[in-house]
Amino acid sequence: MGRIIAVANQKGGVGKTTTSINLAASLAAMKRKVLLVDIDSQGNATMGVGVNKDDLELTGCDVLLGEADIAAAMETLPELKLALLPANADMTAAEVGLRQRKNGELALRESLVEANQHFDYIVIDCPPALSMLTVNALAAADGVLIPMQCEYYALEGLSALLDTINKVKAVINPALEIEGILRTMYDPRNRLSGEVSEQLSAHFGHQLYKTIIPRNVRLAEAPSHGLPAIKYEATSPGAQAYLALASEVQRRDSRRAA
Ligand code: ATP
Ligand code: MG
Repeated sequence: MGRIIAVANQKGGVGKTTTSINLAASLAAMKRKVLLVDIDSQGNATMGVGVNKDDLELTGCDVLLGEADIAAAMETLPELKLALLPANADMTAAEVGLRQRKNGELALRESLVEANQHFDYIVIDCPPALSMLTVNALAAADGVLIPMQCEYYALEGLSALLDTINKVKAVINPALEIEGILRTMYDPRNRLSGEVSEQLSAHFGHQLYKTIIPRNVRLAEAPSHGLPAIKYEATSPGAQAYLALASEVQRRDSRRAA
């Protein structure tokens, strides 16, 4: 059985997709079997690993609505040693369809049961909303990884996210844990970045990853080449930070198992 990690924060542009792609690729580079699941209708994670979202026969939407088998919709990316369950604009139909269904919040969890046998990690890139799809990800996950931008208002909206996590825990998925809180887009030259980082540290203590993701232009450029940062420029600070995060995620995992 693999570990299912939902990368979630309803705030837009905090680094969910960048984290999903680069964590998945870094774990894969460390010889772990990884499935990246895109459930955002923007399809950014799909494009970011070099798959054209507008040229797909099947997507996660078909799987969630029970119209396709997950194995049929999965793309294998041999260069990255990753598997991808892709998404595109069709995903909005899954959001609507699942809302109308009894137990619609369990669709992703049920879809992943079989697939989970074949992977060490499943990383789910969530959309920027506390939507039915995000609830699906939280219902399916063992842990939720929350990326937080080291900028003003970082903590804004956090209580709504934590409320949603607690509701999912109470009603559907009692085993759900906070996988970790990740500081993203950290700029050491910016005093505010440091202050927010300290604030997060005071607030979250051991839940905060030691690894900090720096603001790094290579991380922003890589998706336009359809590549994770480790394939685009492995020595860049951004790529190195995500490799460090992948190690930290695995360390926490083995500590949990011990
Ligand atoms: P959305 O809420 O729209 O899904 P998101 O939370 O997935 O957004 P990303 O798409 O990962 O956020 O990042 C937002 C933008 O910031 C992107 O253009 C991305 O390339 C850039 N970015 C993310 N992380 C970094 C970083 N550490 N350094 C520089 N740019 C970054
Ligand atoms: Mg995104």
